[in-house]
Amino acid sequence: MRILGTEIKAGNSYTLNLNKVKLYSTSEVEVPVIIERGELDGPVVLLTGGIHGDEINGIEVVRQIIAHGWNKPKRGTIICIPVVNIFGFLQLKREFPDGRDLNRVFPGTKKGSLASRFAYQLSNEVLPIVDIVMDFHTGGAQRYNAPHLRVDAAESKSIELAKVFNAPCLYFSSNISKTFRATCSKKGIPYLLYEGGKSGDSDKTIAVEAVKGVLRVLEHLDMVTEGLPDISVNHTTVEITKSSWLRAKKSGFIHPKAQAGDKVKKDEIIASITDPYGRLRHEIKAPHDTFLLNVNYGPVVYQGDAIFHISKDE
Ligand SMILES: [Zn+2]
Repeated sequence: MRILGTEIKAGNSYTLNLNKVKLYSTSEVEVPVIIERGELDGPVVLLTGGIHGDEINGIEVVRQIIAHGWNKPKRGTIICIPVVNIFGFLQLKREFPDGRDLNRVFPGTKKGSLASRFAYQLSNEVLPIVDIVMDFHTGGAQRYNAPHLRVDAAESKSIELAKVFNAPCLYFSSNISKTFRATCSKKGIPYLLYEGGKSGDSDKTIAVEAVKGVLRVLEHLDMVTEGLPDISVNHTTVEITKSSWLRAKKSGFIHPKAQAGDKVKKDEIIASITDPYGRLRHEIKAPHDTFLLNVNYGPVVYQGDAIFHISKDE
């Protein structure tokens, strides 16, 4: 097995460097790729965080897996790239320094933009040996995602693994063109997209939920050895096939009354919008019984801004 020009031998550990792209200061930026291959043959699992440089929770998930040594499999190989977009991470920004969103330029091109070249390396020098990908993301700066997995309803292998991972919510959503996920899909690699919390924030409950999911998958694949924490499931998974955004009808301060991950009843007041002068108080009610996938925690919104991402299932 070869990755990034290095022979990966059974029972060995490697830290390689994915990046061959330099900054304009001519400095090289290291993107560590941590590889652990077990003594026995088995699947190759890739764990990625920080494709968006400001999504700290995702980086924390992969960090915890490594820090506890759960990335050392008894069979197969685990590849961890905790911070894929190290450029963005250094400035706590979503994008690459060329202003591009790495997750919209996959599979990349050999001689394209900085982000595109980087995507090309990941697609062509890492993915060819990978059997399963788990990729960790968050919501936006104000918009907090309830912890959930996203899989395409047409991808049965991904769905099977998503059910093993067993996040509190499973959201069936179609692939977006030019994402890492879309490239994995085209290559026939099962891919789990975990979303939880918001960018620029470190949220341990979100990270722990994801770590447990990863460990459930690794245990299912008979890859982990010992020292696992309690990974039993103590929730009933909410499955969502349709969703929509509830938008603000007024501009002002937003005050959510319900949290991401809550199930609310039709006509329940889930937020209010006020103005700075004490004149306005506009209440927002749930349009139907629904699950809150994402909540905008403000502090301010304009008319038309998305406030809640809600399920539309009956
Ligand atoms: Zn992201």
